[in-house]
Amino acid sequence: MNAVPQVATVPPQVLLAHHLKLLKLPTFVREYEKVALACAQDQADYPRYLLRLCELERIDRDRRNIERRIRQAKFPQTKSLDTFDFKAIPSLNKPLVLELARCEWIERRENCLALGPAGTGKTHTALALGLAACQKNHTVYFTTAAALVHELMEARDERRLRALQKQLARVNLLIVDELGYVPFTAVGAELLFEVFSRRYEQGATLVTSNLPFDEWTSVFGSERLTGALLDRLTHHVHILEMNGESYRLATSKKRARKSGALAPADASNHGHSEPEGGAIETS
Ligand code: ADP
Ligand code: MG
Repeated sequence: MNAVPQVATVPPQVLLAHHLKLLKLPTFVREYEKVALACAQDQADYPRYLLRLCELERIDRDRRNIERRIRQAKFPQTKSLDTFDFKAIPSLNKPLVLELARCEWIERRENCLALGPAGTGKTHTALALGLAACQKNHTVYFTTAAALVHELMEARDERRLRALQKQLARVNLLIVDELGYVPFTAVGAELLFEVFSRRYEQGATLVTSNLPFDEWTSVFGSERLTGALLDRLTHHVHILEMNGESYRLATSKKRARKSGALAPADASNHGHSEPEGGAIETS
């Protein structure tokens, strides 16, 4: 209940906590006594006291907003550019990635395509750019192409496709990972096409794919649809070419070579034993 306690009988601290809670100022509630003591010691006046509290509330609010954006993004794991070893993938345009991490392309509602074979860091880069976007207070939604098509089909069956399409059109950055691993049904392809189509010049979209453009028809099934899709996706686009050896395979080989356990040529089998997202040495 939000009823205001009776003023005459209630200590001011209780009333204050009540009002501050209604005003959604939790940091004020938590900190005002501590900051008052500190200000008394520093002989800071009332404006300075209020200013300190406001600053604390704003810092906390920004942190809570970022945490909420990250939760809403549904990242399968947290990856950042701090842990990305650019030397491992010389084909990748590092200045472009750093520029994209500043998120101005998201404000300009452009697109980004990360293309390359498995294990070259496409998902890592997409997660890192998604995290950077959350930190700039953009709304982000991370999904895989297969999961998105599944979600769309389910929404269609449950007659809530329009609501989902609207939601997907609204998000500042939509990340669609792993386009190309699973071909879509005709309906799935149409539904996914509609997502991209609605987002055209309305929001930023990042797609990762193991397939070069000329093979996208094999996923969407229709040349007409693929053409229209690529037309929209590639109009304002930043392309991250991620060609190289699988990072996991390369690190496993390096490790095996270091320990002398394997001759370099035998190392390939060990690439598969690296756990996804496990601690990988980048030395
Ligand atoms: P892809 O999506 O291209 O198949 P991932 O991004 O899933 O590749 O990378 C596979 C694993 O290797 C992940 O754990 C990822 O964090 C790691 N990885 C890939 N490339 C790099 C890199 N250049 N620096 C650090 N870790 C990397
Ligand atoms: Mg991937």
